[in-house]
Amino acid sequence: MTKGERGEKTPEEEWESAETPDEMFFLLTSEQRCDPVKNRRFMVECCRRAWNLLPEESREALKIIEKSIDRNLTESELASEYSNAQKMAAGGKNSTKLPSLNYSAADVICHLSDEYRHKHKDEDYLILNRRISGEIADVLSNYGSAINLDVDDSGLPASNPNEEKYRDELKLQAVIFRDVFNPFSKAEFEPGWRTPAVISIAQAARDEELSNYELDIPRLAILSDALEEAGCNNTEILGHLRGPGPHYRGCWVLDLILGKK
Ligand SMILES: [Zn+2]
Repeated sequence: MTKGERGEKTPEEEWESAETPDEMFFLLTSEQRCDPVKNRRFMVECCRRAWNLLPEESREALKIIEKSIDRNLTESELASEYSNAQKMAAGGKNSTKLPSLNYSAADVICHLSDEYRHKHKDEDYLILNRRISGEIADVLSNYGSAINLDVDDSGLPASNPNEEKYRDELKLQAVIFRDVFNPFSKAEFEPGWRTPAVISIAQAARDEELSNYELDIPRLAILSDALEEAGCNNTEILGHLRGPGPHYRGCWVLDLILGKK
């Protein structure tokens, strides 16, 4: 780790202290910026922040998108999954009672589905990330505080435009980004550590109901013990699982274990 010339923060320090996903995006390498799995995971997690505000169709579309990340689909299966997700999201756009969601979460899912089909450059991902992260933050800061927002009989939460909330939402997205991408990790995952116990605990962590937002910390501690029993002595991997979290479905260690990266 080397300090910059004028004693400014190292890239690792910038990464740890970043308060928006946007700042973090520029700390990734070009290859990392174009990683479709990581980008999708981050964007799905952002959409999940607005879960209680999403119409049912959009929730279903998110589930389809997430499932298709985790399965090895053929080209034609992928095309069919994308098309299903788009149809679901489009239906959600018509049924939502929140006008801004017409242009945000449900719409974003359509973009996500589109994004699947094309190989993009890093600037495309930057635009997509900014759009999704900004729109979700906008919806949440204007219509509710977070995932467990109460809605009234009409289905509409109290409008509460709040710039501070917007910034807080971006800070939370930075936490998600940090759990999904880990550009400074040197951890190598040995195939022998993928014992049946390790795989089944990791899969169970990821398969929790989509509405459960953060991963269960005690379950990840059990996963770290199973990994250790399998011979894993990598302090970066074990330390991440035993750390305070929070962790999300796109957690970089789960991706390592389940072979996504
Ligand atoms: Zn994690």
